[in-house]
Amino acid sequence: MSIFGKSVFGNKATDSIPASSLDAATDVPEPSVRKSDDEWRRELTPEEYHVLRQAGTERPFTGEYVDTHTEGVYQCRACGSELFRSNEKFDSHCGWPSFWAPLADGTVRYIHDRTLGMERVEVRCANCDSHLGHVFKGEGYGTPTDQRYCINSVSLKLVPRGADGDVSAES
Ligand SMILES: [Zn+2]
Repeated sequence: MSIFGKSVFGNKATDSIPASSLDAATDVPEPSVRKSDDEWRRELTPEEYHVLRQAGTERPFTGEYVDTHTEGVYQCRACGSELFRSNEKFDSHCGWPSFWAPLADGTVRYIHDRTLGMERVEVRCANCDSHLGHVFKGEGYGTPTDQRYCINSVSLKLVPRGADGDVSAES
């Protein structure tokens, strides 16, 4: 059931991860939100655009959610899709908001990223294909998955529990 089970980190042959190599139970649909580059530029701030649409990274310890413990749901800043919950957020002290799991299977998708001379797994919003951050494993954090979803604050929007009367992620 792990996205790391076979080929995500071991895959040297291709740039993108075939869906079949991920959790077989995860059925990630094609992104349903498609906008032109001009539309994204108009709707997002320059910093949001840089991170979400150009796979940029905010400077560590500068994001608004690094140390946030507020209960709630983290939505995609670009499309509003619910991606993470405060329940799975933990203090990694790495400088970015860190989660040990996404809100649900299929809310994010994974791309093999070999930029900057590193083997990493990029995490994108499954709904609009915007860049969120990267996921790492086996770092020894005492979390249930031993995974760290290292996500840019600027890619997220926290909706505190009860803020709008509709925290529908609870099941
Ligand atoms: Zn999105």
